[in-house]
Amino acid sequence: MNNDVPLPTHTWPELEPGWVWLCGAGPGDPGLLTLHAVNALRQADVVIYDALVQEDILAWAPQAEHIYAGKRGGKPSAKQRDISLRLVDLAREGKRVLRLKGGDPFVFGRGGEEAQTLVQHGIPIRIIPGISAGIGGLAYAGIPVTHRDVNQSVTFVTGHDQSGNTPSSLDWQSISKGSQVIVIYMGMKHIAQIATQLMAAGRSPLEPAAVVTTATTDDQQVLETTLGTIVDDIATANLAPPAIICIGQSVLMRQVLDWQNMAAGQAPRNLDPLGRGRPAESA
Ligand code: SAH
Repeated sequence: MNNDVPLPTHTWPELEPGWVWLCGAGPGDPGLLTLHAVNALRQADVVIYDALVQEDILAWAPQAEHIYAGKRGGKPSAKQRDISLRLVDLAREGKRVLRLKGGDPFVFGRGGEEAQTLVQHGIPIRIIPGISAGIGGLAYAGIPVTHRDVNQSVTFVTGHDQSGNTPSSLDWQSISKGSQVIVIYMGMKHIAQIATQLMAAGRSPLEPAAVVTTATTDDQQVLETTLGTIVDDIATANLAPPAIICIGQSVLMRQVLDWQNMAAGQAPRNLDPLGRGRPAESA
């Protein structure tokens, strides 16, 4: 993309000095940025970005100072406070501040906390949603997060909380009973515990599961497995975070919707993975 090319006609908002825009960068592929994100990148004096933001995206803000604010999952929140206060300081210096976060800023990304701190300090904000890894990352793996034949609901959970442990507020019994499809963010560290709890609560060890790492980037890897074998298979495949874990029948849809491998010449593995015996559109 070229900065000389105007964005499509629209009244694009102006990033004014002293403002902070909290913006989702999507899961990785720069093509998954929104136009509002591009508009913001073009105006920012400073971009503060997370570990999950692909560095190519920063090239779209050549005029801006780029500040890395990476954080490791599960670390105490002191650093989070530092980042939020840094945003306050930069805004007070009269900068046009773009806070760029992986995926969607309000989905398990502490964007809510950052925004709250800014408002508490009287800093004007704008929120720019992004494509969350739990939706867009799965789509790149050929897994539809909903499908009429599979699920009428989906549950997004985080695998760990601020302390680094599995969140004590999660009721795995209820999740197991009530969630047709479970999408887990930050689940790699505690996947053994999570899988055990789900099976203890009644989910079948044979239930399909998938792990998608560095989704939507050139390094994307997809593991298809089952709840009973997921821990061993992750170890065997040597998979590392960031990863989205999906548990449920929707994983089977990858047999017909694995579009990336199909684009590379592979035939679909199974045109009717749910065994419905009828064309999809006749439902
Ligand atoms: N706000 C982000 C989530 C931040 S929490 C969003 O909406 O996507 C960080 C977790 O997001 C990671 O541990 C991982 O579970 C998930 N994640 C983010 N980007 C990812 C990617 N490209 N591939 C796989 N998982 C990703």
